[in-house]
Amino acid sequence: MAQVLLKNIAKYYNKTKVIEELNLSIKDQEFVVLVGPSGCGKSTLLRMIAGLEEISDGELYIGDRLSNELEPKDRNIAMVFQNYALYPHLTVKDNISFGLRATKMDKQEIEKRVAHAADILGVTHLLDRKPSELSGGQSQRIAMGRAIVRQPEVFLFDEPLSNLDAKLRANMRVEIKKLHQRVKTTSIYVTHDQVEAMTLADRIVILKGGDIQQIGTPMDLYHTP
Ligand code: ADP
Ligand code: ADP
Repeated sequence: MAQVLLKNIAKYYNKTKVIEELNLSIKDQEFVVLVGPSGCGKSTLLRMIAGLEEISDGELYIGDRLSNELEPKDRNIAMVFQNYALYPHLTVKDNISFGLRATKMDKQEIEKRVAHAADILGVTHLLDRKPSELSGGQSQRIAMGRAIVRQPEVFLFDEPLSNLDAKLRANMRVEIKKLHQRVKTTSIYVTHDQVEAMTLADRIVILKGGDIQQIGTPMDLYHTP
């Protein structure tokens, strides 16, 4: 778990500035939701924090570490995407443990972490299945399992529920809320869905044109007197 600090972060594509000098301090264990119109820079911001996109200017701290130049694998961050990107030829268990098996971690520890993540997500009975035998909601749980087993300092969610139907989305919203209450990992979550933002966020950040337009708790932002 860690704080995430963005100091005067900017992003240019060629000469076009898509993120202005952006300042944001996310506390340890906090759940921050980023909302805003399409093209306002939400994905770009997440991708910069993950190390998938270069930071043009400013400083990114994860924990106490200046992280601008760190490789994604050295950032101790896990990202959950809207397309689950499961490996079709691997079992659920092997999908969840894929990232860990690439490290030197010993087998017992990997088994323990997979069992723990599967328990949290309620997918223990699915561990021997293949992705083609899973529903959309189950697939998204497996994708989250893959993030959980890494025990990262920070979770990044890029519209993880937008491919699910309304009922599943509501279920998974509750699951993500419970997950955060249980593991308390600092989380940054991008969505278009106001209900998701209201339900999950400690604080909501409204981006517009690459800049912070408003920031506050759900009550601050959406409470109409
Ligand atoms: P959001 O996730 O809020 O929809 P993005 O972060 O995807 O927004 O995009 C922010 C802006 O940056 C948009 O104007 C988009 O067209 C532009 N952009 C994103 N990626 C690239 C890229 N690789 N090259 C050029 N422009 C890009
Ligand atoms: P989303 O808003 O869901 O992130 P986008 O369509 O904005 O989806 O972006 C999808 C991918 O295309 C991202 O990886 C982004 O970096 C890239 N992209 C977005 N806009 C541009 C652009 N104008 N030029 C090049 N790549 C872009």
